[in-house]
Amino acid sequence: THFGDRIVALEDKQGLVDKVFHDVADRYDLMNDLMSMGVHRLWKDAMVAELAPPKAGTRPYRVLDMAGGTGDIGERIVNRSLGYAEVVVSDINADMLRVGEERATGWRYPGQVSFVQANAEDLPFEDNSFDAYTIAFGIRNVPRIQKALEEAHRVLRRGGRMLVLEFSQVDLPGFDALYRLYSDRVIPPMGRVVTGDAQPYQYFIESIRKFPEPGRFSAMLTEAGFRRVRHQSFTGNIATLFSGWKI
Ligand code: SAM
Repeated sequence: THFGDRIVALEDKQGLVDKVFHDVADRYDLMNDLMSMGVHRLWKDAMVAELAPPKAGTRPYRVLDMAGGTGDIGERIVNRSLGYAEVVVSDINADMLRVGEERATGWRYPGQVSFVQANAEDLPFEDNSFDAYTIAFGIRNVPRIQKALEEAHRVLRRGGRMLVLEFSQVDLPGFDALYRLYSDRVIPPMGRVVTGDAQPYQYFIESIRKFPEPGRFSAMLTEAGFRRVRHQSFTGNIATLFSGWKI
């Protein structure tokens, strides 16, 4: 498989990914704002608007935010549900979760979010136990993507919603050249200034270029059992939101 522009053994990829997020955890949120000029917030808002978590109901509404990192999707979901939704923020990386737990003390509904360390490929949750599964900018880091999608399908209940937000390939003439220039010339140096190391951000750029295009990723969702698979693109195709249902 790929780690950035290197070819690595599938079993070696996770360790390399973990080191990247270990190294950047404390500066992760700041880097997101800088690199995307704040736009990642709008994409995440759009994802949570699409989920439209209920604000009341007769039974709990449980969401698993996988590769949830520092918890910003989880915070958004709970806020949008006015404190009704219960979100499990789960990530393989203890450093990212630690930053999230620290942030959560300042949230509006801190009691509605819990943090669980887990691998997306092998979830420690029961079958049919969540109403929704969200993963933002996480799936491309997982070595065995198909396995993670199957696990997502397993833990969702029937009628449950799957939402995946991920970077995609910019293909608008003109904009693509600009985006490539920005990715190659601005992001790695910016990473070096803010986190002391450009290498994680080189990985970040290459991993976007290697991610399957929307048609192929949609087929992987269908293969994992999801139905009514759709996608919509954001900001000239920089990011794509995929939706599917377990029915
Ligand atoms: N969802 C957050 C966001 O949108 O800002 C964080 C995304 S961050 C780019 C990717 C996250 O995926 C990291 O926190 C990393 O630890 C996590 N990750 C990588 N491999 C994973 C795996 N196999 N299982 C769970 N999480 C994983």
